[in-house]
Amino acid sequence: PLSTADLIEEHRICVCVRKRPLNKKELTIRDLDVITIPSKDVVMVHEPKQKVDLTRYLENQTFRFDYAFDDSTTNEIVYRFTARPLVETIFERGMATCFAYGQTGSGKTHTMGGDFSGKNQDCSKGIYALAARDVFVMLKKPCYRKLELQVYATFFEIYSGKVFDLLNGKAKLRVLEDGKQQVQVVGLHERDVKCTEDVLKLIEVGNSCRTSGQTSANAHSSRSHAVFQIILRRKGKMHGKFSLIDLAGNERGADTSSADRQTRLEGAEINKSLLALKECIRALGRNKPHTPFRASKLTQVLRDSFIGENSRTCMIATISPGMTSCENTLNTLRYANRWA
Ligand code: ADP
Ligand code: MG
Repeated sequence: PLSTADLIEEHRICVCVRKRPLNKKELTIRDLDVITIPSKDVVMVHEPKQKVDLTRYLENQTFRFDYAFDDSTTNEIVYRFTARPLVETIFERGMATCFAYGQTGSGKTHTMGGDFSGKNQDCSKGIYALAARDVFVMLKKPCYRKLELQVYATFFEIYSGKVFDLLNGKAKLRVLEDGKQQVQVVGLHERDVKCTEDVLKLIEVGNSCRTSGQTSANAHSSRSHAVFQIILRRKGKMHGKFSLIDLAGNERGADTSSADRQTRLEGAEINKSLLALKECIRALGRNKPHTPFRASKLTQVLRDSFIGENSRTCMIATISPGMTSCENTLNTLRYANRWA
């Protein structure tokens, strides 16, 4: 059987890290940047020059990845090395998955969805949109044009183990498994898309649906997984599927001691799904009986993306550079560290 390292060699799993710049808030409190990216695939967490006692969680640790992107890297570059190669996979009848994993505020939505920080909400530079753009470019190639493929998109959210359709007013959806272990999200809207513009509109609709009715947009989105899918069909039959996922924030320490029962349950559900995800990715492409698909709604819904012979996945671990985020950053790096 193939080890995780073999799967990485085989390019079925690609794991990379993206560091964001220090933000205004961090600059104001003079947070220290404790992350260095000395070469394209190495991340170092170092002791800052100033005299601060960090021994509680810092030991000058080094982590290795397929790629490490520093804080000057654009979405376009991150995309080129991560999701771009997976566009080919779905044209070759495969299943592709790309995850953004990391603590809240580390840049998952910025990477996947685009820039929603200012007044102008711009989803055109996120990985969802860049992948869609290249799907339509590929579609025009003679070898694929003759297949007469149709493109569809879905956008849904998994919150506390429940699925909500972001392209249909957050309708709650049921997940069914038939006798052949095929998983179906019943009634999920699959929208017909003809060009990148169509996709951009759907991303906008989905994003505003995701944050509507929430007192704090990030409070809610940090606790849910958002799944955007590009589906290729040929004569109605699935040809390939690309799932792009903005995961729930992985910081859960505070939840376990929370007085609020709902918060504790949500936190436990998120922990469970992220652990199950790691196990499922490790088992990628090998239909192992003990792969814990059913351990969480997230992995159950993505089941078909993990089992196919031609399945590929990419994990983008996003990290904050600040000393104040150190504990969460180390957790993220350990989770993603070449799937050690
Ligand atoms: P998350 O989705 O992980 O909670 P966000 O993507 O919302 O985090 O990012 C938090 C803030 O940091 C946002 O205002 C976002 O615009 C900004 N940000 C994140 N990553 C970057 C980056 N690589 N470059 C510049 N700003 C970024
Ligand atoms: Mg987010």
